[in-house]
Amino acid sequence: MLDKVLIINTGGTIGMVHSEKGNTMSPLRPAENWDEIAKEHLVLEGLATDYYQFETLIDSSDISPENWVKMAEVIESNYNEYRGFVILHGTDTMSYTASALSFMLKDLDKPVIITGAQVPLQKPRSDALQNLITAIQIAGNEFYGIRLVPEVCIFFRDTLLRGNRSRKNDARNYFGFSSPNYPSLGEAGAELGIKKNKLLKKNEGNFHIETALDNRVIIIEIFPGLKPSYLMNIFESIEDVKGVILKTYGNGNAPTNEDFIDVINFITSKGIVVINITQCTTGTVKMGMYEASTKLLDAGVVSGLDLTPEAALTKLMYLLGKTDDTEEVKRLMSIDICGEQTLNHYNFKFAQNNPAKICKFSFDIPEEIAGGDMIEAAVRIKKLSQKNKVDKVSIIVSLEGDSFIENIDNFQCKKKIHKNTENIHEDILLNFNKCAKKISEESKEIIVTLESDKAIVWGDIVFSIYAEC
Ligand code: ASP
Repeated sequence: MLDKVLIINTGGTIGMVHSEKGNTMSPLRPAENWDEIAKEHLVLEGLATDYYQFETLIDSSDISPENWVKMAEVIESNYNEYRGFVILHGTDTMSYTASALSFMLKDLDKPVIITGAQVPLQKPRSDALQNLITAIQIAGNEFYGIRLVPEVCIFFRDTLLRGNRSRKNDARNYFGFSSPNYPSLGEAGAELGIKKNKLLKKNEGNFHIETALDNRVIIIEIFPGLKPSYLMNIFESIEDVKGVILKTYGNGNAPTNEDFIDVINFITSKGIVVINITQCTTGTVKMGMYEASTKLLDAGVVSGLDLTPEAALTKLMYLLGKTDDTEEVKRLMSIDICGEQTLNHYNFKFAQNNPAKICKFSFDIPEEIAGGDMIEAAVRIKKLSQKNKVDKVSIIVSLEGDSFIENIDNFQCKKKIHKNTENIHEDILLNFNKCAKKISEESKEIIVTLESDKAIVWGDIVFSIYAEC
């Protein structure tokens, strides 16, 4: 059977037929079997496929995590028998399913291509046939024994998209899906072109599935006029929520008024993981860039970078299902698992011990970004002040062996704050973007030293790094 593709039908428009044979005006119902779908389409009968149908075919508006587990299990139990898999699915929640499966199917090295249609197969001018044929071809494609597409994708109209980057953006147009923050993986014209350099690297481990998903999560979209008291009521009355996807403005900005920030602090104080993603179609959350997001940062909100809402939600369900350690969930939410985000974000946080004249902290640069992948770096010292009035605090960032990086690109990593620090009580932000790459090429360690001639007091020191995935 290894030369075949397994079609898994879950429902949606693509698998619907007219209840009265031959009458295209009669209501649509789910097909009973593959023959009913494929008949009248000789080309489908000619393709090397087997067919598996969900017991109940559903409109994808009814999709739930249990359905994702079922899909993963069907793929697992048939994994060694087929070249690849095509999932027939309603378009409405297809991007959620594609995202969820991308986290659940581990060490995948075969194509899992999800497709659907805006118009059922039997209607004139339907998009179903073309979507189906091309999805089967991509799923069955092999090149010198190597599967070309070792990941979960959506194929629609003429474009192959990474599943966890995709979004449904049109309810009518045959170009129904887009991938706003990542290029397409392939185009189907007269030729089928796969962009190999955009695909995930082939996995080395043994394929397996991880099916524990925790759906005690909620998405909240902010808007001008949102009453903080409504949010407070929700979180005071729901006991067991574990994670929140907060859809904010622009680069991750939200209202700065005290009532709103109090609610966010209340939510995070309950141990709930809050992930900040943008309402914009394209772009990345960068908290700390504007004051309007700094307060979220201080409240313990985590950056969801350029995750789509679908990927953010399913990644959170997956990670909450994997571990009870919320700090670990927060850390992993900012690090790429399977191509779902463009950057990794790391935070190294140091808390104040005792006021001292010299305070020194160090941390190891994560192994996976050593060698030049760091593209942005910044240190933020919160609420810096001094016991006794003096006018200078030096903030020194140095590398392995305490060596300086002053010679790099004329950049000074030794800063002196010339202020009356007794009254500062403010955040100091220094960025090292210009030399970030060089830092990660030259050192395995970063050392931050605060130096003054009087004891220094501060809230937190956070060293933040962005790196290419
Ligand atoms: N409501 C349908 C579904 O998502 C629409 C479609 O299949 O395109 O199942």
